[in-house]
Amino acid sequence: MTAPVLPQEILLAEPRGFCAGVDRAIEIVEKALAKFGRPIYVRHEIVHNTYVVNDLKERGAIFIEELDDVPPGATLVFSAHGVSQAIQREAERRGFQIFDATCPLVTKVHVEVAKLHKEGYEFIMIGHKGHPEVEGTMGQLDSGIHLVEDVADVARIQPGQTDKLAVVTQTTLSVDDAAEITDAVVARFPLIKKPKMQDICYATQNRQDAVKVMSPQVDIVIVVGSPTSSNSNRLREVAKKLGTESYMVDNADELKPEWF
Ligand code: SF4
Repeated sequence: MTAPVLPQEILLAEPRGFCAGVDRAIEIVEKALAKFGRPIYVRHEIVHNTYVVNDLKERGAIFIEELDDVPPGATLVFSAHGVSQAIQREAERRGFQIFDATCPLVTKVHVEVAKLHKEGYEFIMIGHKGHPEVEGTMGQLDSGIHLVEDVADVARIQPGQTDKLAVVTQTTLSVDDAAEITDAVVARFPLIKKPKMQDICYATQNRQDAVKVMSPQVDIVIVVGSPTSSNSNRLREVAKKLGTESYMVDNADELKPEWF
């Protein structure tokens, strides 16, 4: 039998690991468990990481998608991705004890949307349809927020007005993809208001930059993350776009000898 060829050298990306928003969200669930005991209900996976979710499940967290699955009087945590106004209101109406683990960088986008909406703006949101963060941000308004997933979508949308239009983005997009879509948005709506600081978060940007620096130096890139994680998928794509073979694994058992 031929022995597997092991990597000669392993480079570890810097920065790597959980961002501050994920650490904070995990801490909020841990504190709720310590204070109120099990079970603690969490709407949606607190962060898109199987390891974290399974660990918290063992310690008494119950992950749900629908508020109907939360019993009266229970403690409920909103995930780091944030929630719509409708979910927020309904959870309050049902009298749950609520802890909000929405990442402050997502909240910043929500606040910006609410502020500009009061000034009469409509919005174009760049993001992935169905992603909980996108649902939460779009759900800050009842109407007047239009989703674009790619450059082709930009030509299709029909905002109700073009004089007061602003653009927001999901925080975990590929920086390069978002720039391309933003350029298409600006080309179609030259007067559109862009955020002073881009919405893609520093943690997402720094990790993508690290992959860009590292990819040309290595034969393969392995991203440790979960398939549901937007950030992890984008890191794998960044390496692939630079021509470096890349894979994503949730745990060590998923590493395949043939990759090496
Ligand atoms: S917005 Fe950025 S810092 Fe916040 S949870 Fe998402 S990836 Fe982490």
